[in-house]
Amino acid sequence: MKKLVVITGASSGFGKELAKQFSQDGYPLLLLARRVELLEEMNLPNTICKKVDVTNKLEFENAVRFAEEKYGKTDLIINNAGVMLLGNIENQNPQEWQQMLDVNLMGVMNGMQIVMGDMKEREGGTIINIASIAGVKPFGNHGAYCASKYGVVGLSEVARMELAPYNVRVMRICPGAVDTELLSHTTSDNIKEDYLKWKSATGVGAITPGDVARTIKFAYELPQGVNLREIQIADTKQDA
Ligand code: NDP
Repeated sequence: MKKLVVITGASSGFGKELAKQFSQDGYPLLLLARRVELLEEMNLPNTICKKVDVTNKLEFENAVRFAEEKYGKTDLIINNAGVMLLGNIENQNPQEWQQMLDVNLMGVMNGMQIVMGDMKEREGGTIINIASIAGVKPFGNHGAYCASKYGVVGLSEVARMELAPYNVRVMRICPGAVDTELLSHTTSDNIKEDYLKWKSATGVGAITPGDVARTIKFAYELPQGVNLREIQIADTKQDA
């Protein structure tokens, strides 16, 4: 059997597509999200589904160790869970900032710390962190979201440097706008409308979560000695 792949935020969007595509190719999986029923609904073989909030490190670590008992050590973790609560800095509720920093940044740090010691010892393994184009360039109304994603980019590069001597890969994926549930959690209707107007004016819409998942799987399946450090992937019509 292939080696264990852990995917956070596997209940929708990119995570769900990643789960399907890795499963189709025979990888044993640990799927994590809060809506565990959506993970179970996929009914994938050789798959453990756990209700985990990635901000709870103990819960997260217990789930990983449980899966490792069954399938062996984690060879790939995809730190994908994230939230995008758009808002301007002047007016946004600081609880929304906190949630984004906790999930998008602390969740990724938790995931990395849970697996990196073992990977270092085994001199192998891959960590893939889902950042965003909003982690390499700023967008209006994306203040705390950009802060979280710039954070993921910076921290992934530092982790890459820490793990390079041990033959462990750290990659960051920076997608542009892709249709998923991501925008639906933004609480400002005006901001949501503007975002959708921008998408329709530019014609963004061809790219799918499946395209992003396929690209991530391709990067992982390159030889261990090859590290695609950063991938920016966006709709061809995305002008920003
Ligand atoms: P979705 O909203 O469809 O998926 C987000 C996933 O994260 C869900 O499975 C959700 O599961 C999970 N999640 C959210 N909070 C938590 C938490 N506290 N603990 C565990 N899981 C959590 O969005 P996408 O698929 O689009 O997003 C995936 C990643 O890609 C995110 O990091 C996002 O920032 C990034 N991204 C997305 C882009 C896009 O345009 N779609 C562009 C650039 C980056 P549940 O609610 O069940 O816990």
